[in-house]
Amino acid sequence: MQQQWNDKRVLVLGAARSGIAAAAYLRNVGADVTLNTGSEPSTEERMKIEALGINGVFGAHPLELLDTTDMIVKNPGIPYHIPLLQAALERNIPIYTEVELAYLATDATFVAITGSNGKTTTTTLVHELLKGGSRPVHVAGNIGFPAIEVASKAKQGDIIVIELSSFQLMGVEQFHPQAAALLNLSPAHLDYHGDFESYADAKGNLFRNMTASDRVVVKGSDTEVMKRVPADLDASTFGYDSGDAHVTDGWITLHGKRVIRVEDLALGGAHNVENVLAALLLVEPFDIPAEHIDRVLRTFGGVAHRTESLGQVLGRRVYNDSKATNNVAAEAALSGFDAPIIWVCGGLERGAELDSLIPALGRVKAIVSYGETAGRFQALGEAEQIPSFAVDTLDAAVPLAFEQSAPDDVILLSPACASWDQYKTFEERGEHFVRLVHAYEEANR
Ligand code: ADP
Repeated sequence: MQQQWNDKRVLVLGAARSGIAAAAYLRNVGADVTLNTGSEPSTEERMKIEALGINGVFGAHPLELLDTTDMIVKNPGIPYHIPLLQAALERNIPIYTEVELAYLATDATFVAITGSNGKTTTTTLVHELLKGGSRPVHVAGNIGFPAIEVASKAKQGDIIVIELSSFQLMGVEQFHPQAAALLNLSPAHLDYHGDFESYADAKGNLFRNMTASDRVVVKGSDTEVMKRVPADLDASTFGYDSGDAHVTDGWITLHGKRVIRVEDLALGGAHNVENVLAALLLVEPFDIPAEHIDRVLRTFGGVAHRTESLGQVLGRRVYNDSKATNNVAAEAALSGFDAPIIWVCGGLERGAELDSLIPALGRVKAIVSYGETAGRFQALGEAEQIPSFAVDTLDAAVPLAFEQSAPDDVILLSPACASWDQYKTFEERGEHFVRLVHAYEEANR
């Protein structure tokens, strides 16, 4: 498929890691590449672009660029409504996304995962499970390398496990994974997509080119998910209570066969049980030895910042779930424990309603909130007769959370908010939490 880029004038929109990776690949396969960004790139990015010998146009998206463009490859984050892309659509200039580019770059098999929550965890778990098979396996997406970088190295017969966001799925034309999961759907990124329907439809694009012989994995009880499954596909369903993969009498069960007890999973929380069920259905067609599956499920404790266990700290079980940037993710984490929880939450104020969190507060013993939304979480807790505190920062929240807890309690950072009021990223927030927990431990031994 590579010859389709040869001698073509390709405009790559957006820098960052995946834009630069796309530009490098395209140049390598003989395209005449221009990289265009709406803002000024960082010095590091500029140096990389110069080193690649690529023509760069920075700081705006001038329409004249289209006069010398045969094809466009765009970064997922750039919305289709910008004037340059609208003009390109009018002129029938093909617009490819990163996923499409990666798909066309290799004959490897794709296993794709999307959903509103659980993508990274499930992608990482599927990668670990597939490592036990006979085929080389790679991971691409948020936690791995940019898809095009992975795809350009993967060979026929290899497997690429890829995590896909709704942005990445919007532009799908030919992308055809052999196994794919749509884990769940709840409102997210509505600022980009405009409304829930277009967000959910973008996710549904995952199935667009799949056929009845592919493995399609969906959460059977999620009506929005089920609406997006084309009628001609034979979907495999998962769910805690029912589906091709579900839980019976405390056992993870796949097509009626017991795989492992829920209590023996290294991953904690009911939401993670669903991720395990989905992962097992996804890897089923690849004939992975049962012993390998058993070993991975007993040892894979999750990805950093996703209900990540910090182990026992002064007799408390402490978890960093900094990635929980919305209500649904925090609800899932809160519902996943059977011990009293000291819930540390708060962050950027986006005006989200909080009442939907109430059913998940059953085991919450105290709320320690901080950041822009602190006052609202405190009010939420007080209305439910839960001792609730509002402080300015995590530095104050962590000691207070320990003071409110007893041995064997859970201390859970699951913010239900984005981090950007005080941090650059959720990772930075999670790392700060982990440091504060260890510092408290040191000081109170
Ligand atoms: P994503 O990549 O979709 O953001 P992650 O695997 O990084 O998902 O998990 C993010 C957060 O979402 C976790 O910290 C957890 O609180 C929550 N979560 C994980 N899996 C699920 C699920 N299947 N359903 C609901 N919430 C989930």
